[in-house]
Formats: sequence, structure tokens, C-alpha cells
Amino acid sequence: MRPEGKIVALLVAAGTGTRAGGALPKQYRAIAGKPLLAYALDHLRHPAIGEVRVVIGPGQEALYRQLPGSEALPAFVVGGATRQASVLNGLEAIAADGGAGLVLIHDAARPFLPGAVIDRLLSALETDAAVVPTLPVADTLAAAGPALGDAVARDGLVRVQTPQAFHFDAILAAHRAWRGEAATDDAQVARAAGIAVATVAGDARLEKLTYDEDFARAEREHLAALVGRTGMGFDVHAFAQGEELWLAGILIPHDRGLKGHSDADVVLHAVTDALLGAASEGDIGDHFPPSDPQWRGARSSLFLDHARALIDGKGGRIDHVDVTIICEAPRLGPHRPAMRQSLAALLRLPVSRISIKATTTERLGFTGRGEGMAAQAVASVRFPEEL
Ligand code: MG
Repeated sequence: MRPEGKIVALLVAAGTGTRAGGALPKQYRAIAGKPLLAYALDHLRHPAIGEVRVVIGPGQEALYRQLPGSEALPAFVVGGATRQASVLNGLEAIAADGGAGLVLIHDAARPFLPGAVIDRLLSALETDAAVVPTLPVADTLAAAGPALGDAVARDGLVRVQTPQAFHFDAILAAHRAWRGEAATDDAQVARAAGIAVATVAGDARLEKLTYDEDFARAEREHLAALVGRTGMGFDVHAFAQGEELWLAGILIPHDRGLKGHSDADVVLHAVTDALLGAASEGDIGDHFPPSDPQWRGARSSLFLDHARALIDGKGGRIDHVDVTIICEAPRLGPHRPAMRQSLAALLRLPVSRISIKATTTERLGFTGRGEGMAAQAVASVRFPEEL
């Protein structure tokens, strides 16, 4: 019988290992510009999972808080000296918060978790207290040595993956009672406590990322699977006396400023629309209606951040943003480096992926007469194919 209560995923990301190369623990290494741990969190979004808890390594709080989507990261617990101690810390934290019905214990080093594996595990927990995903062994196994040793019979052997799923109270008791050596997975802890562990089919996409070449392959596969989209944005505001001139999130000294409902930053408005366009998510007015008084005088960085987070939530990667500002005055050349820096910081991108240009209209039209300022933006964004 399946116990009542919420379903919690406990993601173990407490490793300090840098075996895969690089200075960072491997769960913080980037694949196509995004840390492995962020992929692991994305793949735990499943309609049945009510809550995610993360176990991080001691001293990794700052790294964790800098992950993309950091405004909505799950609560974390600091891990212990072994994987088993880390899992126990996570389970105790869940218990202290009222417990759970079921728990899926997963390793961040297997980030690309298909939803179908979660479905199989949860359905097995209707009848079993513990279940793990497994795959058959396809390669010949043999004793290692300077010269190859005897082949080992692989009949009846399986490779055990994570997430491993349990009735919460049963696995908590098993971890509390564990007195063995370092356990490499939770099924061993469950079996030591006399719990029978069922199996369901695993998935090749759940392979653990361990070595440099695993990261290189994941990077190739990930980039190849992204689809490029282009969005454009255009915005105009009128000049007025007594207004400030905000462009790309910085205040530019000038005798007049731009008038608008918000801070009238034409650059950020054009870029926001370009990003929303690339995501086919309407325009800035749909998300922030000018009729809504709460946006009066708002910093336009708020609009931009909304569009950036929206793309982030879809697994998108902003490759490049190109902006043209159209005005007769002020001269913007001297402010270009600061505007690029500001826009790059707001989008959390390197400056090399931001371009800002300025032009006049040879004194023609409303910009030529100095009545207002216009900005155009083009955003190149890559999204997962399934979008
Ligand atoms: Mg505007």
C-alpha cells in the first residue's frame, strides 16, 4: 500500500570531486553554458513531485545560490562526510518539515532524467516499498590488470541507476539504522534493513557524468539539440523636459529625458520585446499592461529580467543581442561601453554577446527633429527542440 503524503525528490549534489577536470565540483560544471545541477533540477519538474530538496557540499552555499533561476531554487541542506551521511541529512530535514509519503533520491551527476522513469518508479511504489531503475550489462566484463583477466559472467547482472524511490518512513528508518561502510547507493541501505528492492527499466540518458569526455559528449548533444530563433523589438519614447534619460539601464546626462509610463528606457524595452519575440510570448504590453498603475515609474530592468527568466525557464540560451539606438542627441559613443556592460550584467551574459550601436536619421523624421528616440533590437536565442 502506498503511504499518504507528498512526493519529495531529494537531489544529492554534495560531491567535492573534480575528477572530470576543472576547478569546480562537477555538479557546477557547465554544459552548453548551464551548470549540470541546473539541468538536474529542471529534469525533476514533474507533475507528481510536490517538492525538491537539494543536499549541497559544505562551503558550496555561494555556488548554489548563483545557479540560474536562483530566485526560485529549492531549499538546501548541507551534506555529511559520505554520500550516506548526506542522504540522511536530507531525509532528516524532510522529516523535520513534516515528512513525506514517498521520496525519490537522485544524484545530480545523472541530470538528464526522463519523466517516464519517474512514472515507472512511482507506479512501482504502489506495491513495493523500494524500487530502482536498472539497465542490462551489454559489454563483456573481465578482471582488470596489466593483462586482461578472465571474463566475468554477466548473466543476472544489472547496472543500477538513480533516482531510487522509497516509501519515506521506510528509507528514513533504514538510513538511521545503517552501520555499514560507505554505501554507494540507497538500495544497499534499504536491503540492509530487510526491505526488498524492486526494479523498473532505467534509461541510457541517465548515465552518470564522470569524466571529461562525458561532459564533452553532453555538450555536443545538448548544443546540437537546440533550435535557433530570432526575435526583434522596436520602441519609441518622446523627449520631455524634467525627465531622466535612462538607456540600457544606466542614467545618461542630457538636458532632456524620455517620457513614459515606466522609466522609458527605449533600449531595455526593445530588448525585452526581442526576447519575448524569440520565445513567441507576446510583447511587453501583454506582460506589463501600461494601464496597470503598479508599473508607473518602474525600472525597466524588471521587464527585462522577466523576459530573461521566461527564456531561462524554457531552457533557452541567449546567444546574442544586437541593439541600434536612433537619435540626433545626445552623442552616445562615449556611453556605449557602460551601456554594453549594464545590458550584459542584466542578462547575465558576457559583454562579447552584447552589441550596442547608435545612428542618426540625418535630421529627418521625429528622431531627426529631436522629438524622441527609437531603439531596435534583435535577439538570437536557442531553445530545446521540444519547445
Ligand atoms: Mg517603451
